[in-house]
Amino acid sequence: MFNALVLNKKDDQKATGKVEEIETSNLPEGDVLINIDYSTINYKDSLAITSSSPIIKNFPMVPGIDFSGTVEESSNNNFTTGDKVILNGFGVGEKYWGGLSQKARVNGNFLVKLPNEFTTKQAMAIGTAGYTAMLCVLALERNGITPEKGEILVTGATGGVGSVAISLLAKLGYHVTASSGRDVHSEYLKSLGAEKIIDRKELSEKGRPLGKEIWAGAIDSVGSFTLANICASLKYGGTVAACGLAQGFDLPSTVMPFILRNVTLAGVDSVYCPIEQRIVAWDRLAQDLNLAHLDSMITTITLSEVVSVANDMLSGKTHGRIIVDVNA
Ligand code: NDP
Repeated sequence: MFNALVLNKKDDQKATGKVEEIETSNLPEGDVLINIDYSTINYKDSLAITSSSPIIKNFPMVPGIDFSGTVEESSNNNFTTGDKVILNGFGVGEKYWGGLSQKARVNGNFLVKLPNEFTTKQAMAIGTAGYTAMLCVLALERNGITPEKGEILVTGATGGVGSVAISLLAKLGYHVTASSGRDVHSEYLKSLGAEKIIDRKELSEKGRPLGKEIWAGAIDSVGSFTLANICASLKYGGTVAACGLAQGFDLPSTVMPFILRNVTLAGVDSVYCPIEQRIVAWDRLAQDLNLAHLDSMITTITLSEVVSVANDMLSGKTHGRIIVDVNA
């Protein structure tokens, strides 16, 4: 028997979540059985757990889009008992039972081996948000945005993606401006490497099709008017890596930044990102992330606190990364 957070839903009612004991034999099919050490709460988990968005279609469901742990049994050629592994996305915690649990059985093709540089706790301090931040940095690099090109804007700065993005960019020598709605966390953002901080209100209202050229690049986890205003304020040849929708999923922009300033809108998806790119991203995290920053980003909670903290996340009461010690 093991413990997991289980979401149940009746008819049109909202899903409710509670920690339940489950028999290992009741886990869904998969070729690798994992003893989970840590999972996390990402924005998408909060949407799913609170039924704020129809992310989960089949109930009962164990949520949690990521986890780290140790292989207990494997019939997959790439993994053996004792291997330390990480999982991000691939529909786990949405279509397949996820990481907010002491055990998971999954398709081994979804797993990445834990880089030697990280403990399983550090891997989840990074989690899907941090791995997505790395994918965004890689998108900027692919588009030739080097530190010499100018300032990089990071929106949703105090969030999981934003915090890791700032830390990575600063270590790589970029000049980072953080956009945040919470000046109470200014010192935190500076400690991660932000040189300037702007109020997110400067970007969140409808703006002009083209504005002053300010940023060489941007990492945006907010979407909506914010992303439109970023496109309008990128320098000639600039790139924005867009991964999120914390303000909204709309994009009220025009073609002007693209056809007059050669701006690139680089979409970033972590969920179905091919395994080869995941391995590159995790290797680069091992190389480029200042591990000392992780401690200041994390809040550690237990499985029984998840539902309440998911609500807090959507009300803007959390910052950094929330990691879940599933065995506490
Ligand atoms: P968090 O909740 O940790 O961070 C979101 C941040 O966005 C908040 O901390 C806040 O930062 C800012 N924010 C919140 N509400 C608003 C608003 N109404 N307008 C403007 N800014 C707002 O979430 P994550 O960092 O985990 O995820 C961020 C986004 O990225 C989410 O939309 C998530 O779904 C998406 N995502 C996408 C992935 C992909 O594969 N494409 C993978 C991972 C995440 P502040 O207070 O500093 O302004």
